[in-house]
Amino acid sequence: MERLQKVIAHAGFASRRKAEQLIIEGQVKVNGKVVKELGVKVSSTDRVEVNGIPVEREEPVYFLLYKPRGVISSVQDDKGRKVVTDFLLNIEQRIYPIGRLDFDTSGLLLLTNDGEFANLLMHPKSEIEKIYVAKVKGIPSREKTKSLEKGVKLEDGMTAPAKAKMLSMDKKKQTAIIELSIHEGRNRQVRRMFEAIGHPVMKLKRERYGFLTLHGLKPGDARELTAHEVKQLR
Ligand code: URA
Repeated sequence: MERLQKVIAHAGFASRRKAEQLIIEGQVKVNGKVVKELGVKVSSTDRVEVNGIPVEREEPVYFLLYKPRGVISSVQDDKGRKVVTDFLLNIEQRIYPIGRLDFDTSGLLLLTNDGEFANLLMHPKSEIEKIYVAKVKGIPSREKTKSLEKGVKLEDGMTAPAKAKMLSMDKKKQTAIIELSIHEGRNRQVRRMFEAIGHPVMKLKRERYGFLTLHGLKPGDARELTAHEVKQLR
């Protein structure tokens, strides 16, 4: 048995607070009857509806995928390109990625069917550290990497403080490998940050997401998160 507001939030209809509001406002029905009190518990066989839309009740599942390059962070693609869920074909739940990595970015991506969990991690306040390794064109000076750390001006505003570390450089080829740790998750943020300092990204990989790493995985491999890992991320 689970609390009604939790079931609604899990299905991705709303945050738990919003779900409580929906209940109080009389927008939620259980087995065809409006339920306005909070704290009501429902079982997996109870039919829950929000404004007439059935709330799907799947067992929540959580996966970590090592996304290869050349894959869309989506559940389907009109042009028939490979999507991240193609790597998790035997999962009966309808999972989707938590946030996205660009088509050409490889690395760590989480997938779930737990809407509440996904919203929590994607919320700007979650501030989860993400570590990327970028191969960039040219060799950024110390001042340039420092400016990444202080914040650079992007069209959607200044970036928050970050950490940047030069891992290696190839003077002959004029390329550098830089580790960048950020807490935000704006669209194409890492590529835009390097572009802003005049060193476009040639290759990008997300190595870490909070305490999670790609340890033991090859591109295209996925594993289920442990209950402990899910708890730590919440
Ligand atoms: N930043 C980017 O620019 N691309 C990604 O895929 C992830 C973060």
